[in-house]
Amino acid sequence: MIKPLRIGLVGLGKIARDQHLPSIASLDGVELVAIASRNAALEGVANFKSLEEMLRLERDLDAVVLCQPPSVRFDDAKRALVAGKHVFLEKPPGATVSEVQILADLAESAHVTLFAGWHSRFGAAIPAAKSWLRDHEVTTIQINWKEDIRQWHPGQTWILDRGGFGVFDPGINALSILTELVGETLRVIEATLHIPANCHAPIAADVHLTTAKNIKIAAAFDFRQTGPQLWDINIEAGNERLQLRDGGHKLIINDIAQAVTPKSEYPEMYRHFLSLIRSSKSDVDVAPLKVVESIFSQGRSVRIEQFEF
Ligand code: NAP
Repeated sequence: MIKPLRIGLVGLGKIARDQHLPSIASLDGVELVAIASRNAALEGVANFKSLEEMLRLERDLDAVVLCQPPSVRFDDAKRALVAGKHVFLEKPPGATVSEVQILADLAESAHVTLFAGWHSRFGAAIPAAKSWLRDHEVTTIQINWKEDIRQWHPGQTWILDRGGFGVFDPGINALSILTELVGETLRVIEATLHIPANCHAPIAADVHLTTAKNIKIAAAFDFRQTGPQLWDINIEAGNERLQLRDGGHKLIINDIAQAVTPKSEYPEMYRHFLSLIRSSKSDVDVAPLKVVESIFSQGRSVRIEQFEF
């Protein structure tokens, strides 16, 4: 029998508890042996205050999963790679593209796997959407990514702080699907970033992008959405159209709902992480992060009223 991958997880917050812990528990081939948390503890595993401490004291550790906000993840990722551990990064994989490239180089020289997980690319409808796009000449794409920050990110003030990505914390999920589907470099035409007077990061944004093949992309991101929550991508190719709903889990082609086999993103990501390790590969795509960097550098900032959680 193959020995399971022994995992240490850092940052016991919402995504760790909602997705990583249940996914690890549900899968053969992975085992949670330790956590590092500044505030919390978990029964049944070794508990440490920091990754440094975990690496020093937990001798039999194969991989580290980093679930902190992106602005504080780099040093731990570097530490884990230098210690010879495989690393799974939550999205976005870093605060900047150059940070992630440094980590990819480190992984290569340490002969370990680095996986930058873009969970929305593991949505159930993504493979069928990709195959439809291969047979169609796309002309326009429209994205509506609108969710209620208070519902999905309760108390996560870091999101609207410096380095927190603001509405691009969820918005980068749409861009991860977009870059996967389009497969071309995206250029920012214009972007307007709506930034509350008491925050550093945008709470909403309107973005126009294009590609070498002249696909026109309009995207509206908003963290103030109440009522129906929208994670939609609408793609037009001449008279035909494809709609992705629910963040890549539902597919409608020419107004007819398509059957897709339901899939859970996080168990799929862990299976992918295991297969990367087995084949001594890494998977580190910075394309979605490059788009966000361009939007931040070229976007016009508009100051709006204060926002309180
Ligand atoms: P969260 O609930 O705020 O948890 C992040 C955890 O990171 C904290 O609980 C804390 O854990 C640790 N941490 C270390 N340094 C920190 C710092 N300076 N500020 C805040 N927390 C710090 O956030 P989350 O929603 O889990 O998101 C974490 C990452 O997962 C983000 O990159 C996010 O984009 C991604 N993600 C989130 C979701 C979602 O639905 N929430 C979905 C997919 C991906 P300890 O107290 O244990 O140290």
